[in-house]
Amino acid sequence: MFTCPNCHSKTISLRAKMSASIFRPARCPSCGGLFIVSRGAVLGALAVAELAAVPLLVAGPTIPFVAFVSLVVLLGVLGCAYSFGFAPMEQLAHAEPEPKWTATTYVLVAMGLVALCLIPAYAIFRL
Ligand SMILES: [Zn+2]
Repeated sequence: MFTCPNCHSKTISLRAKMSASIFRPARCPSCGGLFIVSRGAVLGALAVAELAAVPLLVAGPTIPFVAFVSLVVLLGVLGCAYSFGFAPMEQLAHAEPEPKWTATTYVLVAMGLVALCLIPAYAIFRL
């Protein structure tokens, strides 16, 4: 259980913390506060991960592919462990309305997926 930053009682479960988003924040049953993992802390962790990834990208072609992939996975796991286990919580005044899935959203998601697929393609075929 994680401590509620508002009323300081241990009310927020790991599951609630992991599934909290600005659209569906975790609610503290004790004080009714709405919380998500601090966006500032996660952005900070992402910045650190990017910095850690630079030597990895430079060394990419020289180390074995399996080692490269395990390091990338390890970075991802560390990022998740930090975000859900250690990052501070941020209180929201209210939940954001759920985003509407319009044609533009589908196009953006499809383009995002294509961009993500390029990363393993790049790593495997060294384009
Ligand atoms: Zn609370």
